[in-house]
Amino acid sequence: MDQRTHTWLAIRAVALLDDANDTPGLVKILKPHVKSAAIGSWIPDMADSKRGTGDIDNHVFKLKPYAGSGEKRFITKKDKLFKSLGNKRLIRTFIDNWDGVLGTDWWNKPYKAEPAPGQHLANRSMALTTTLIDQLILGDSNLAKLVPGEVSFARNLHPEARSRGEQVATYFFMLSHFVADACQPCHSDARRLSGYGNGLHKEMESHWSKKVGTYFNKKKLLATTESPAKILKAARAVDSQFNLTFENSVPKIVARDTWLEVVTLCRASFAVACILAPPQSYPYDSNKLTSFDDVFLSDNADPELLPDLNQAVAHDAVLNIAMIWKEVWSTFD
Ligand SMILES: [Zn+2]
Repeated sequence: MDQRTHTWLAIRAVALLDDANDTPGLVKILKPHVKSAAIGSWIPDMADSKRGTGDIDNHVFKLKPYAGSGEKRFITKKDKLFKSLGNKRLIRTFIDNWDGVLGTDWWNKPYKAEPAPGQHLANRSMALTTTLIDQLILGDSNLAKLVPGEVSFARNLHPEARSRGEQVATYFFMLSHFVADACQPCHSDARRLSGYGNGLHKEMESHWSKKVGTYFNKKKLLATTESPAKILKAARAVDSQFNLTFENSVPKIVARDTWLEVVTLCRASFAVACILAPPQSYPYDSNKLTSFDDVFLSDNADPELLPDLNQAVAHDAVLNIAMIWKEVWSTFD
């Protein structure tokens, strides 16, 4: 996703937590800083972040067929994936409605991703989850009031060594980046057609960005004098563009930890990529490319595919961010 889509997704997730109203302390940490922390949601894609393994196309879990030792470990059958996704995610319904093009055979095969160290979406998400827990433990006196539980050594820490709300909010927004990237089908597909500059990937993201609209452009957002409540309201107003309705509750993650949960999201994204560009027409080892127009707007494309995809990806990206933020918070609640 581009900068303003990442910004909208993260701010919309704050609004969802606010509406769900069961993590008021977490909302009090995030909400006041939405404007300044928004940068955290997209800096991982900046070239300057490269040493921290940033840059577009670097946050991946690109799956492809696997033939090697321990093959069985890399098979995730449909019923297992659906169980791991739980029943609140729309991507599950999307896959169920559209996976006829894949067939049972597809689900019975092993697929493996081998991202370079530091680029791995689940690793990056897990690393930030544990970093945030530590930051919340070391929080300054303002944070300590919001984070449940006593920290016996807090008064022994140098005041400047303790984390501030702005800092923690920015890291939460950085975590949102990796969770959102796991929801973009192309980040989980090793085929050339899913590369950022190869057509479909970038074109799909610019389609979403147009729907998000200009309110969340970085310059505009940084310059706004609107209150956090108004900014959240503007984020909710984008829902209609993606035909979104939220239940205003944020479930617990299904897996034992963030790492496994993000791997599940990536496996679902890979299934989506293979629905959009079926391996029968776009084999895993071919260099054949496709485009947004080919997949969604050509004569033989189903007109329902694009609105269904937009809704499922946007809904789940917001929900997944809120769920994984809540997973950090659940350490204390
Ligand atoms: Zn990214």
